[in-house]
Amino acid sequence: MKTDKSDILALLRGSNGYVSGQQLCAQFGVSRTAVWKVINQLKEEGYKIESVTNKGYRLLESPDVLSKSEISSRLTTKWAGQSLYYFDETGSTNIDAKRYAEDGAVHGTVVVADMQTTGRGRRGRMWQSPSGSAIYMTILLKPDFPPDKASMLTLVMALGVAEAITEVTGMDAGIKWPNDIVVNKKKVCGILTEMNAEQDYIQYVVIGVGINVNNASPEEFPEEIRKTATSLRIESGKQLGRAALIERVLFHFEQNYDTYVRKLDLSELMEAYDRHLLNLNAEVKVLDPKGEFTGIARGINESGELLVEREDGEVVQVYAGEVSVRGLYGYV
Ligand code: ATP
Repeated sequence: MKTDKSDILALLRGSNGYVSGQQLCAQFGVSRTAVWKVINQLKEEGYKIESVTNKGYRLLESPDVLSKSEISSRLTTKWAGQSLYYFDETGSTNIDAKRYAEDGAVHGTVVVADMQTTGRGRRGRMWQSPSGSAIYMTILLKPDFPPDKASMLTLVMALGVAEAITEVTGMDAGIKWPNDIVVNKKKVCGILTEMNAEQDYIQYVVIGVGINVNNASPEEFPEEIRKTATSLRIESGKQLGRAALIERVLFHFEQNYDTYVRKLDLSELMEAYDRHLLNLNAEVKVLDPKGEFTGIARGINESGELLVEREDGEVVQVYAGEVSVRGLYGYV
């Protein structure tokens, strides 16, 4: 049997004191040498592991390592991320996930990278993707519902990310409808959903998530986004473990997805979504290519459209497609 690094890591992380070499050998059915090799690999990756004769091994410190074992060893999900690919560098995790989808990858497969060379946002925009500080991940879904139900998945993910960030950092993570996550009025996360479908059948959907986590200062962002972008570290003053945050995002997404699929609408998620919605009951500007207008945002409906009440009292259902929504005085 191959000794699984993630299993050993999980065991070390889960125990307060020392774990004896003997216990590790017995649990995984491997030799002491095999255990010793895995411990050395982990040390090389940056984990501080103390080894004491007659006591065993103890994990002192997990740095912000991003690796397949670091993520897998934390997963608590039923299906999201149970099949996992990790790259130090890639073009785009959405493109990777699409390729895996074509090759028969299972529903829930996740691709994570430490850096992207061609990260993208909606409508062909760029997503800045430097190494060592952020999360770039894509989840592949193979749903058996009709294609017109897929666009709501962006909102299902946005809610999951907002819940995960709020839980991990204690800060309020707001959603700028439909798909940006905002902390203290600046963007920490973008979400890009793409689909391959026939007229009445979804081949697959990929949802890409980029989260700025440990970027140390605003100067790390290019000039053109410095005013609107931020990271969780800049806002909280704390460095975070990216793998732990990935786990929370997948956990919340999986729960929300399973809820969504029961009714194929957002009726059971609307309330939670609106709790995170920025500009709820405040004035927004709707940048619709067919004509801009302002109104009061009243929350989303079961289809994920933003309800905007115009001055004359008419409530317009805004569909995400081509539209951006702004606060009256800037990005939010
Ligand atoms: P909006 O709805 O605000 O018009 P969008 O949802 O269409 O935006 P996205 O596709 O989510 O935009 O993201 C792309 C945009 O995000 C880019 O045009 C850029 O302004 C900004 N951006 C790019 N990289 C980052 C980053 N790492 N952090 C924060 N913002 C970024």
